[in-house]
Amino acid sequence: MSSVHVIDLPRRVIVGNNVLETIGDHILDLGLGKRVLVVSGSSSTRIYAGRVLDVLRDKGFEAWHLSVGSASISEAEKTVATAKEVKAEVVVGVGGGKAIDVAKYTAYKIGARLVSIPTAPSHDGIASPFASIKGLDKPTSIKTIMPSIVLADIEVISKAPRRLIISGCGDLIGKFTSVLDWRLAHRLRGEYYGEYAASLALLSAKHVVKYSEWFSSKTIPLEAVRALVEALISSGIAMGIAGSTRPASGSEHLFAHALDITANYPALHGEEVGVGTIMMMYLHGKNWKKIRSVLKKIGAPTTAKELGVKPDDVIKALTIAHKIRPRYTILGEKGLTVEAAERLAKITGVIP
Ligand SMILES: [Zn+2]
Repeated sequence: MSSVHVIDLPRRVIVGNNVLETIGDHILDLGLGKRVLVVSGSSSTRIYAGRVLDVLRDKGFEAWHLSVGSASISEAEKTVATAKEVKAEVVVGVGGGKAIDVAKYTAYKIGARLVSIPTAPSHDGIASPFASIKGLDKPTSIKTIMPSIVLADIEVISKAPRRLIISGCGDLIGKFTSVLDWRLAHRLRGEYYGEYAASLALLSAKHVVKYSEWFSSKTIPLEAVRALVEALISSGIAMGIAGSTRPASGSEHLFAHALDITANYPALHGEEVGVGTIMMMYLHGKNWKKIRSVLKKIGAPTTAKELGVKPDDVIKALTIAHKIRPRYTILGEKGLTVEAAERLAKITGVIP
């Protein structure tokens, strides 16, 4: 283990109402560059990207726009080619997950600066250096670069569909088990463990529990959305501090990635992570019922049926989860047998 520890953090984080139009000033302030490629999703996020482009052009930037339909390697490579062609110095991702993932990959590949403008609070990648690109040889995220600027406009984000907001809560709930797994790997394997990064990740999960009443209400109040966004950013920063996804991704994430393989991306990432957390809390001998009741309360899936998968998909995913990546967790080196997986899913009520 190296004694040198490098921490990459965003240079500026802006969270507030109606801050989207200030993005040009922040890029100018930090001197990130004048040639900007804006990457958005293909649906409603295009409108926000349009507003960003208007602001940038008003401020004298040269700006280009590209929308992506998915975060696949082919779309990502196409974006890289465009970014090279226009000699982009800054890549701005405007969107939920896909656009930001592609922007991260692109900025990393061409050595540009990265700006993250999330339009939905569905996962903790909005302020982390890790990107999920589909079609690479592994289903987990790859390390790219930390955004120089994270700009979260609560006014914009609060208009995201409720399901995306609740998915973000699920991703954060997962920190209860990812931190337990990290400690376990530290104790059993002598793996590097950072108390501060672990505490920060855990804090973000506790935040969701604290505000669960608000998330369960029909119209989620702006304060709750803001708390969620701040917690997602904290979790991303915890990864930046740790230099890996360790504080934010353990066995519950291995399960989620495995389910994406066995059932072909059946649900939102945070929804899968939430269900994974229930089961992994049980394996850790912790209060899994509490996790399940919080997820139920906020309207997040807690069963295979609610995830839209068959019981067999869950069992299969549990048995292959340990192979997803070389990361020591409560699943151990050999993983779960079919019998153990079935028992676990039944006891926790994930399958009937
Ligand atoms: Zn996640």
